[in-house]
Amino acid sequence: MITRNPDSVQCLDRRWQHEVANAFSDPEQLLAFLGLDPQQYGDGLQARKLFPMRVPRAFAAKMRHGDAQDPLLQQVLPIGSEFIDRVGFNTDPTDEQDTAAPGLLHKYRSRALLMLRGGCAVNCRYCFRRHFPYQDHKVGQAEIAAAIDHLNHDSNINELLLSGGDPLMARDDHLTDLFAQLRQAKHLKRVRIHTRLPVVIPNRITDDFIRLCQQAPWKIVLVLHINHANEICDVLGQQLAKLAAAGVTLLNQGVLLKGINDSAPILAALSERLFEVGVLPYYLHQLDKVAGASHFEVSDDQARTIMAALIAELPGFLVPKLVREVGGQASKTPIDLHLG
Ligand code: SF4
Repeated sequence: MITRNPDSVQCLDRRWQHEVANAFSDPEQLLAFLGLDPQQYGDGLQARKLFPMRVPRAFAAKMRHGDAQDPLLQQVLPIGSEFIDRVGFNTDPTDEQDTAAPGLLHKYRSRALLMLRGGCAVNCRYCFRRHFPYQDHKVGQAEIAAAIDHLNHDSNINELLLSGGDPLMARDDHLTDLFAQLRQAKHLKRVRIHTRLPVVIPNRITDDFIRLCQQAPWKIVLVLHINHANEICDVLGQQLAKLAAAGVTLLNQGVLLKGINDSAPILAALSERLFEVGVLPYYLHQLDKVAGASHFEVSDDQARTIMAALIAELPGFLVPKLVREVGGQASKTPIDLHLG
């Protein structure tokens, strides 16, 4: 039986929801907060019209004041390079916009992916779903019920991936209801939650969410999305420790991004910091070639050089696998590092 304290839930739910609602959406306000001059970006800030800017204040607070090159700022600030139209970059780099059942992408034989919520608390400029038509994939009560029915009756599925947008945009009471209904799917072994929300709003890891994970009948795997060690503040570390103590497996998948983490020392520092807070580096993704993000691309050759240095620097368990998503493939495609 999943229990919760309604008063504390509402209070903490309200706190993180308030933080979502109060995120920076105007680049000039974010730059003013950081003591930076918007004039230096010219018309580049208009790239917010291509993909809205959204930056929670807790994430902005981790950025260095007065530093236009801050690696967190560069991930979220609209800039002129997004207007570059480069061959090979398109609006659906992973071929996922053409699915039959709204909400439920039944991707692999034993794994199903439920897009629980469209939208995120932060809009990462390199996001492979920056053009995704969430409005055509809205998941309402009827779609959730259909997805649960599907999951309950397909005994081939042993793992459910909750994705989005960001699935933790769902309130704790909604997640509790979802988990309660999924208890009928006896064949499920794992529920994997892909999220960046706790990274940008650590308060999202509420006591009620921790309790929900602890009481779930399946293993819960939380796959975080962290690209730079500066994203891990002490509060996030403390909340992750509570999740680990509740039996949640914590993994990280980052994206290799030009100008942000494209060097072995930066990635080594990320791996070390992840391990300090109980998270294992799992995947490092090559950029999905989404239109508007070509300036973040690191070539495969450069990526191989970085990975070779990382392997020399770190114990194996702290080296993430370098992969890329290939549309139509059942799993991530490892990139051959040519290490001989
Ligand atoms: S959190 Fe993930 S899905 Fe959301 S905008 Fe960032 S990269 Fe995209």
